[in-house]
Amino acid sequence: MTSVAAFNQHIRSELDGIRAAGLFKGERIIATPQGALVKLADGRELINLCANNYLGLSSHPKVIEAAHEALRTHGYGLSSVRFICGTQDIHKELEQRLAAFLGTEDTILYAAAFDANGGLFEPLLGEDDAVISDALNHASIIDGIRLCKARRFRYAHNDMADLEAQLKAADAAGARFKLVFTDGAFSMDGTIAQLDKIRALCDQYGALLGVDECHATGFLGPRGRGTHEHRGVFGKIDIITGTLGKALGGASGGFTTGKKEVIELLRQRSRPYLFSNTVMPAIVGGSLAVLDLLEASTELRDKLADNTAWFRQAITAAGFEIKPGEHPIVPIMIGDAVKAQQLSQRILELGLYAVGFFFPVVPKGQARIRVQMSAVHDRHHLEKAVAAFTQAGKELGLIGAGQ
Ligand SMILES: *Cc1c(COP(=O)(O)O)cnc(C)c1O
Repeated sequence: MTSVAAFNQHIRSELDGIRAAGLFKGERIIATPQGALVKLADGRELINLCANNYLGLSSHPKVIEAAHEALRTHGYGLSSVRFICGTQDIHKELEQRLAAFLGTEDTILYAAAFDANGGLFEPLLGEDDAVISDALNHASIIDGIRLCKARRFRYAHNDMADLEAQLKAADAAGARFKLVFTDGAFSMDGTIAQLDKIRALCDQYGALLGVDECHATGFLGPRGRGTHEHRGVFGKIDIITGTLGKALGGASGGFTTGKKEVIELLRQRSRPYLFSNTVMPAIVGGSLAVLDLLEASTELRDKLADNTAWFRQAITAAGFEIKPGEHPIVPIMIGDAVKAQQLSQRILELGLYAVGFFFPVVPKGQARIRVQMSAVHDRHHLEKAVAAFTQAGKELGLIGAGQ
């Protein structure tokens, strides 16, 4: 066998292994814009309960119009990285607007939040420093940390006693600077990080605090500023990373925001910024319109909070167990992976689009259907969703027939 043929056979057997383990990810083809309802390529119309379209801005007319306008005034693309000839007035404006929105000094845009995290740690921390990371942090944070030379410490998920132990361990190891880093909200459970307590521990041990706000910016907190506002520490986070690809319009693009000099050093040294193309002008224009909407009114985040509270109450009253909390991510706990798979199949037949998660994505025995609320859902969508879950749950014996 040639080495190319051997390689291809190796790849096929890897794929077979993924399939045999039940981990193969298929993709459903959607034939409409994102919204409360989506149509699949095969014509089925489903209530969408699995988009990160928290505020319904992915198809908002004002956002689309602003993107069109930027396309007309600033072109389709920049054909350049930022520091050569890829910085337009609107890129600078968006960076300033994001900093003002999030209570920081300056912002640097990236092609994605994955890049923001990937290019964050290596320029800022050296081998004398320590990074202390929540065990369930996003893959992009893990990868970013891998690329830097700092000593790595990991604390048990959301465990403040262990965080303190790791801060002590970093001190004992003689760390020069310590950076604690956490997701603001965790996507599997909808857990919201205890930033008030983490900030207090960071202050006590002289550590910096960084937060990835991808599942929070735009809707957590009374003005939708994020986890820091929700936990009463707005303006007190040293470094925030975030995405334009979820609540803030859902296209793509990411950012890091914080102190002026930190952002300035990232512009000098952060590799995904230096060596990857400028964010598309239409996305920048759309994002500015998103910030206009969110600064003018809390209507969308209020509707999302209302939908979340209603759905959490209604699905629990229907007899299902959920992970308690306040986040629009609502994990409906089934436990058994086969039952969760059957439920996920049945609700699809009944017109709901939501995803099941099984081991090893979540711990064994904690299989679940994860649904995500959006401001684009009206009450009748959510009533229909609860009714479908209830019918499928009864058919499968997951909830009592009397409920
Ligand atoms: C989605 C997500 C990212 C990646 O965001 P992109 O902008 O799509 O690259 C990073 N971190 C967290 C916590 C996320 O949820």
